[in-house]
Amino acid sequence: MSRPVTLLENQLLRTRQQVLRLMAVSYLIYTFVSSFIAPPGAFPEAYQYGKYWAALLCLAALVALSVVPRRVTVIALATYAALLPIALWEMQRQLSKDLLPYDAALWLTCGVALGFMLLGSRWGTVFTNGVLALVLFALVRTPPTTPSLMAAWFTGLLVVSVMAAISYTVTRFIESNLVMHEQDHAKLKAARLDSLTGVPGRAALEEELNRGLEYARKTGTPLSLLVGDIDHFKTVNDHHGHSTGDDVLRAVAKRLRRNVGSTGGMVGRWGGEEFVVLLPGLAKPDALVLAERLRREISDSQLAGLVITTSFGVASYRGPNDSADQLFGRADQALYEAKRAGRNSVR
Ligand code: GH3
Ligand code: MG
Ligand code: MG
Repeated sequence: MSRPVTLLENQLLRTRQQVLRLMAVSYLIYTFVSSFIAPPGAFPEAYQYGKYWAALLCLAALVALSVVPRRVTVIALATYAALLPIALWEMQRQLSKDLLPYDAALWLTCGVALGFMLLGSRWGTVFTNGVLALVLFALVRTPPTTPSLMAAWFTGLLVVSVMAAISYTVTRFIESNLVMHEQDHAKLKAARLDSLTGVPGRAALEEELNRGLEYARKTGTPLSLLVGDIDHFKTVNDHHGHSTGDDVLRAVAKRLRRNVGSTGGMVGRWGGEEFVVLLPGLAKPDALVLAERLRREISDSQLAGLVITTSFGVASYRGPNDSADQLFGRADQALYEAKRAGRNSVR
């Protein structure tokens, strides 16, 4: 069965890996090119520049990402946590030297947008508030000395805040859509299950059979189908009541599922007291053996306090011209023969 939620989760994971990688590589390029154009001076002086420490962090994030790519959120959290003190330090340095904060503001803007993408709305907000608090703290501690510097810092602060607000709104939208998608998927899945027994219903069985047939045609692997029908079920209802009948149906489904589970097969309720077992990869001799085991499992001990027997018809995929209808037709015919032979049997 396809699992769209997992698929979506994987896509989200891959997107997060891509954006973190993109950001880290871009920042490394920026650091390299900008220090090539405007060298920081002698080595001991360079360590005072926040951007080199930030570049080191990006490098660490890239390495971590290649070692444990699935831990992208943890890597992002650690990187962001380490970035905050570096940002504060760098802002203090710029303020104390009357430097224009443009490149820091630009990268912080990117970082804030990326933070929401990587960490989600809650941790993205925590990080953003941390950044804004640090900027305000730095500004109060070391106020800009000229009106033009003041205006530049104000612009930087505003742009980072606007980007944070936009990113927050977009992230919330994506997150609520993901939740809705998950709920729809769960509902869809529940609708495909038989409400009485909890096993897949007819629609799910038909879809799975068609998928199995397609696979068998493509790969030439075997595929078998069992149709099981409870014997004299009408008498169960007549003698013990409809609700006991329902209990029997549930118990039969459970027992079938328990015995088919490990084979990779699928148990479903076709309707009434009829069950279908799809067995991809199983050729007829093996399918007959399994059907015999299922028959015995049901008849050998009581179900819902009653001795219950079932008859099984087995059919297997014959080749590219075989259709789902033909396969079902043969399984039904075999079931009819099992009933005629006295029931509680496999054909
Ligand atoms: P056979 O051995 O030939 O299969 O005889 P049978 O009595 O099992 O077959 P028949 O098809 O005549 O009867 C099936 C009965 O299953 C009739 C119907 O009332 C009952 N049934 C169908 N769906 C349900 C259900 O959901 N719950 C209960 N309790 N009974 C159901
Ligand atoms: Mg029956
Ligand atoms: Mg029947």
